[in-house]
Amino acid sequence: MDANTTPTHDVVIIGGGHNGLTAATYLAKAGRSVLVLERLESTGGAAVSALAFDGLDARLSRYAYLVSLMPRQIQEDLGLDIRLARRRYASYTPVPGDTEGKGLLIDRTDAAATDASFADIGAAEDADRFRDLYDETTRIASALWPTVTSPLPTRSEARAALGDDALWDAVFERPIGEFVESRVDDDLVRGVVLTDALIGTFAGAHQEDLQQNKCFLYHVIGGGTGDWDVPIGGMGTVTTQLAAAARAAGAEIRTDAEVTAIDPDGTVTFRTTDGEDHVVGGHVLANVAPYILDRLLDTPPAERAPKPQGAQIKVNLLLKRLPQLRDASIAPEAAFGGTFHINERYTQLQTAFDEAAAGGIPSTLPCEIYCHSLADRTILGDELAAAGAQTLTVFGLHVPDGIVVTAENNDAQRARLQAAVLASLNSVLAEPIEDLLMTDAEGGPCIEAKTTLDIEQALNMPGGNIFHGPLSWPFLEDDAPRDTPAQRWGVATAHERILLCGSGAVRGGAVSGLGGHNAAMAVLEATS
Ligand SMILES: Cc1cc2nc3c(=O)[nH]c(=O)nc-3n(C[C@H](O)[C@H](O)[C@H](O)COP(=O)(O)OP(=O)(O)OC[C@H]3O[C@@H](n4cnc5c(N)ncnc54)[C@H](O)[C@@H]3O)c2cc1C
Repeated sequence: MDANTTPTHDVVIIGGGHNGLTAATYLAKAGRSVLVLERLESTGGAAVSALAFDGLDARLSRYAYLVSLMPRQIQEDLGLDIRLARRRYASYTPVPGDTEGKGLLIDRTDAAATDASFADIGAAEDADRFRDLYDETTRIASALWPTVTSPLPTRSEARAALGDDALWDAVFERPIGEFVESRVDDDLVRGVVLTDALIGTFAGAHQEDLQQNKCFLYHVIGGGTGDWDVPIGGMGTVTTQLAAAARAAGAEIRTDAEVTAIDPDGTVTFRTTDGEDHVVGGHVLANVAPYILDRLLDTPPAERAPKPQGAQIKVNLLLKRLPQLRDASIAPEAAFGGTFHINERYTQLQTAFDEAAAGGIPSTLPCEIYCHSLADRTILGDELAAAGAQTLTVFGLHVPDGIVVTAENNDAQRARLQAAVLASLNSVLAEPIEDLLMTDAEGGPCIEAKTTLDIEQALNMPGGNIFHGPLSWPFLEDDAPRDTPAQRWGVATAHERILLCGSGAVRGGAVSGLGGHNAAMAVLEATS
């Protein structure tokens, strides 16, 4: 080895997102010398809390907000104390356009009330079918969830573990639209199920590449149940704890250190306020998206992956109180106590997809809403908590980057998308949401909207794609190479010393730590 490429560190990690920190902690605990280089002034990536509104002590989970896919094993291995609040209500979905404002309330603790709600919207027969559908996804979770912290099974092994060929074919081989349509009948109920296939994924229900199926799968297997829980203290507590654990284990974390180039020999070039510097890793772990890694490696254009495409608008609001619903029989605390689906009928989702694919903002924007402060008041300062303030997070679907949002129209589209979100929300409320917005120190309304381009600019997530790129199945194809630890753990790149260690790794999408855990395991296996 050339003297210039003698490793300065066993492992250099590019990016201090929660996965980079997870890998750093595992590797430092195992005695490796670890350097994390993070371009921003603080760590956490998309898993952070922020004081989004000037002068108001509300620490919002600015980007990612719910946790499902972080295994207990990772939390225990790293000594994290992440407390998660389980929500009583799974979801509330008002029937769009219903004159009385009726809606479907799924109450996890009261099957009879849930049955009555199905009946109330004219979908009584779907109540049992809906439960049966989620019994099926629980069986899939039981088969696959235990494998996520192990080397990848093959497709055949995963199929055998499920032990139900018909269910396997329905979820892993055929477009998820067929599964949904064969299980439940009502347009609204179908929409509630389909949304899990569309969060962060611009796809139709019947798309042949099955991107929507992969998205659906990761939304229903977390923790073996598919529950999505509220991190107490906000998402920032997850990464604050991870950064502390990494430092305590001996990892060095440098912020304001932007990596500008990586050589396959392990040399990493980065820029700080003091100028340019180089380090050499025995292994280099890329917590950045594969698309960004290709650029840092200067991969020939013909060999690069296409730019990923995000498709969401994220809107954060701080309210004086929860809004009243058009259906006065539903308490706002129940409606906002789980995932609140708006304009997400099955047919509405397809129309929105078609309109967006044709270049426009969907005429009725499908949205999901969640209220952190109902489950966890600790993100609010005493004054706001006492005044009854509430936070809302809206995730608007089907606004694809590069089609609806571009570098040329970003500011105008942000304003239009924010207006579209508010119009969608107001369509199910008894009072305009604008009247309930708190005002910040400058007298401005407490609302912020983040387009895909805003997310790309803030976090270097290409195309604002929340998973760093297209999701992969949590298994290897039967004929895929599995010669190296990196291949077996789903973190391989074209270069032996460079591994993926983020959302772009197989099984990495979401706040899970899996990209980091699996990269660390591959390094330890290769070097022990
Ligand atoms: C709006 C939104 C909502 C989401 N909601 C959820 C949710 O509710 N639940 C969930 O589980 N997941 C959610 N996700 C997805 C989840 O946030 C991501 O999958 C996860 O945060 C990825 O973690 P990571 O550590 O792999 O990467 P990131 O969080 O992207 O971190 C990568 C880090 O690398 C740094 N970096 C980039 N380029 C360089 C460079 N050149 N040099 C040095 N550092 C660099 C970045 O600044 C960043 O800190 C959401 C994402 C978004 C954007």
